[in-house]
Amino acid sequence: MKTLAEFRDVYHTPLLDLLFRAAQVHRQHHEPADIQRCVLLSIKTGGCPEDCGYCAQSARYKTGVEATPLMTLEQVREKAARAKDLGASRFCMGTAWREVKDGPQFDEVLAMVRTVRDLGMEACVTLGMLTVDQAQQLADAGLTAYNHNLDTSREFYPTIVSTRTYDDRLRTLQAVQNAGIAVCCGGIIGMGETEDDRLRLLVELANLEKTPESVPINCLTPIAGTPLADVEPVEPLELVRLIATARLAFPKARVRLSAGRDRMSRELQVLCFMAGANSIFFGDKLLTAPNPSAEGDAELFRAMGLPEPCVSMS
Ligand code: SF4
Repeated sequence: MKTLAEFRDVYHTPLLDLLFRAAQVHRQHHEPADIQRCVLLSIKTGGCPEDCGYCAQSARYKTGVEATPLMTLEQVREKAARAKDLGASRFCMGTAWREVKDGPQFDEVLAMVRTVRDLGMEACVTLGMLTVDQAQQLADAGLTAYNHNLDTSREFYPTIVSTRTYDDRLRTLQAVQNAGIAVCCGGIIGMGETEDDRLRLLVELANLEKTPESVPINCLTPIAGTPLADVEPVEPLELVRLIATARLAFPKARVRLSAGRDRMSRELQVLCFMAGANSIFFGDKLLTAPNPSAEGDAELFRAMGLPEPCVSMS
């Protein structure tokens, strides 16, 4: 059983020691030049009945995001093929749903998963809550990973979301794992939580029967119209500490530097890669939020001496 005290000890190690240790563990388990590039496509945007305080897609907030119907299979095939041509190894699809409902729309998503797999890419979806049977159907369609974030600590969670519980999230994660699908589960920082809340999230993940294969760390992108529109940005070195702590806690996982990169300096991103982050989303949009431009990422990779991603998914 992992404890908050253990995670605090690691997290508060003098920064240069923490960075060094995390980089060492990273190199024991990963090739440092291997930064996974994922493309995330919103296949059904907006109009969500949930009240997640950070989200532009909740129907409860006036954010200017318009609800759209589910994309067609052909549209998704086209986007996925383009992402593949431009170097993506994983194609992620998100729907603004509270939960999956059986029926034609879910069948269509299953067909999209098969299509992405047929193109030779890993397929990941985030569809909200799932039943055991739905998780199995996704596994049968060849789904590589399911994204379902716990967002923050159990204690802070009700401040951010009231329409479902932490245990609802854990139940879906369990269904996904039981179906043999990899779990992508992490959180968002910069929502007004404490550093301990961030560590409690990592402790929660570390104590799962099976730890997640990927751990996305998002920095809040404040959205006008949501309750978190005016929250202070994250202190950059706290992000670096958290990434390093996640790397040490989950040595084999992909630690994904996800939302919020558009507001990070190149130097901060490099420090995060040094601390063990080894996956990013690329393309100008992250669901409805901005992401660094394709050109900006190409320049960053060039400056790091890594093969350049080069994509525009617009
Ligand atoms: S985060 Fe997901 S569940 Fe929450 S409001 Fe946004 S789309 Fe809905």
